[in-house]
Order: sequence, then C-alpha cells, then structure tokens
Amino acid sequence: MTKPTREQLSRESDEMKPVLVERRRDFHMHPELAFNEVRTAGIVAARLGELGYEVTSGVGKTGVVAVMEGSGGTGETLLLRFDMDALPIREQVDVPFKSRTDGIMHACGHDAHTAIGLGVAEIMARHKTSWHGVAKFVFQPAEEIIAGAAAMIKDGVLENPKPTRTLSMHVNSIEPVGQIQMADGPSMAGGDPLEIVVQGRGTHGASPHLGVDPIVTAAHILVALQTIVSRNIDPLKSAVITVGSIHGGSAGNIVPDTVHLTGTLRTFDADVRKMAMRRIAEITEGTAISLGCSATVTWGANRVPATVSHPKFAEVVRLQASGLQGITEIDSTKRTMGSEDCSWFLEAAPGAYVHIGAAMRAPGANEPHHSPRFEINEDSMPLAVALLSASAMELLGGS
Ligand SMILES: [Zn+2]
Ligand SMILES: [Zn+2]
Repeated sequence: MTKPTREQLSRESDEMKPVLVERRRDFHMHPELAFNEVRTAGIVAARLGELGYEVTSGVGKTGVVAVMEGSGGTGETLLLRFDMDALPIREQVDVPFKSRTDGIMHACGHDAHTAIGLGVAEIMARHKTSWHGVAKFVFQPAEEIIAGAAAMIKDGVLENPKPTRTLSMHVNSIEPVGQIQMADGPSMAGGDPLEIVVQGRGTHGASPHLGVDPIVTAAHILVALQTIVSRNIDPLKSAVITVGSIHGGSAGNIVPDTVHLTGTLRTFDADVRKMAMRRIAEITEGTAISLGCSATVTWGANRVPATVSHPKFAEVVRLQASGLQGITEIDSTKRTMGSEDCSWFLEAAPGAYVHIGAAMRAPGANEPHHSPRFEINEDSMPLAVALLSASAMELLGGS
C-alpha cells in the first residue's frame, strides 16, 4: 500500500484530538515521579497491546517497549522515544484536570509526550502495510533525573532489534503553536556533574604555618577554573563551568583538613568537553600542588552527552513539517544549555530530536518548564502526532 499523504495524516491526527486531550489530562491528574510511573506505564502497555504491538514492560524499572514490523525489510529499526515522568512540584494552575497528587506535577509536558506517543503508535499501526522496517516505541521513565534512558539501555533496549535511527520530541511552553525547532547538530547541551576534593592539613587558625590550608587553595582553584571558558575554549564555541557548592571548615579559628566543591560542566561539542575536562583536572591538581595541597576531580556517573540531531534526519523532519497543515514556522537555529537523556539513544542510533511549540499565551506571558504555573496548549498535540508519524514513515522508508 502507498504511504498516506501528509493531508491524510493531518486529518487523522486532528480527528484523534479529543482522545489525545483526554489521555493527556488523565496523565496530568495522576502524575508519577521518576521510576514510579506504574499507573502511566500500565495504561501505555495496555493500549500498545490493543494496537497489536509486541509489548515488554518493566524495562529500566518502569519503562515500556513496543515493537511492530512494517511490510518488507529495509533493515532499519526506528526508535521512537517518549518520556513519562513528572516533577516534585505543587501545581498552582487552577484547571479541572489539576494534579490530584499533592506535591507532584507534570510541569514539563511529559503527560502530553506520553499521549502523543500513543497517538503516533496508533497511526503507525493503522498504516503498517505502507512503511518498511521496524518501529520500536520506547516509553521512558525518569528523564527528569537523567537516569531513565541509561536504565533502559542497561536492560537491553538497544538490542533485539537494534535501533538504527532515533526520533524524539519535546513540547515547548514558550514558543507558539505552529512553530517547530529543528536544528542540525546539538540542540541541548551535554552535562557532566563534577566533584573536587582539596586535601590539606588542619591546624589552629592562629598557626597556619603548622598546617596546609585547603580553603585558600580551593579559592585559587575556583578563580583559575574561570580561565578555561575565557582563555582555552574557542570564543565561537560554547561551554559553561559552574561551581555550585563549596563546603569546608567548621569554625573561624580552625584550618580544616579538606574542602569539597561540586559543579557542572555543560558543552555541545565532544572536543570542547574533552578539553574542558582535561583543563579542569590540570588546573585543580596543579594549583593544589603549587600551594602544598593535593586535589582530586571526580566526574559523576549520571552524565549525559549533548542531544544531537543528524543533519540528514533533521532535514527529513523539516521537510515533512514544511508541507504539514498547521505548521507555520520552522526554526533551525535554537539551542539551550539544558540537558536531556534522549542523547544516549541519539548517540547509539542517529536521528532527530524536535521541539514543538505549545505556548498558551502571547509571547512574554508564558510560564517556563518546571514552573508550578506551567501550562501547554493542547492544539500542539495533533500537530506533533502528524509530524512524528510522517517523519517516522519517511525515516523507515516505504512506497
Ligand atoms: Zn523537565
Ligand atoms: Zn522534559
């Protein structure tokens, strides 16, 4: 069978809107924190089963994976990823579908993502004779703590079948409905948590010469780290090095043994990241030695690489968007230093990560993600379903 036209996909997605809204509001009323998405995952798994997918639950604790083969093989397996978790925030939006769980709220739009994912799964199932390869839907837990993708990968989500391409999305509460953001290359930064321990030798504050002061040393390290972005990194590239905590000492007249610093490194580019990591270690260890201390840098295990879209696949999404009813603007430049763990999937199987405008109000009057007043425009949902379905069929190939 021939592939449905974009007009047809738009029509089918629009007809689905009441169901998309109903599902999203149900998830919104029953938000669940990272790795506790039990109710959400149950609904997702049941629906995917009804649609004829081969469903596996409990992948990465509460993740759901659903596989369907199209007609004919191209050797491509497309991983379609949607996140499901909410945030520890008390909702301040007064809507009939307000969170029923005190202190937990869908304040990032993952309720909409889950509903959109089920919509795309329905359209893909309906047209399975017109696309090739394998569609592999991944409903992921714990994005907000940057742990769900890694947990699912540890549980084998990248095997049987092994994905060759990735497609994913995020709604955007600031940009207008009808606008999408689809940049080539990195659109969200990689994040590396870092910890520094400066080891000195404690002594009386009145006799510093009898010990080695880690507080003075930590201060020198902190200032010297600022030279990495200003002096080592190409001014046309981006990086952030933030030290967000310093702890050391217990009283004004005691020189302590140690000082602990924690921070984060944000980068888009693998070479910039590697260089910044090397310079952080050199400056920390070298400064410490020069002042008589020793120091160690430890990189956190829950790092995440930059969210990178392959230019070839980003172009597929932009091309599909350009002919789609309701899409009025395609922005191919926007980026953020925020992080997203879909990066792990995009690193394993290159693809595209698209941001979909979902603002409720006029520019300047919208709440950011993670705000207790966060809202999204549900008109964005059928648009997302149509765009992702059209892009998925194109990425998988077919006649
Ligand atoms: Zn978030
Ligand atoms: Zn999010």
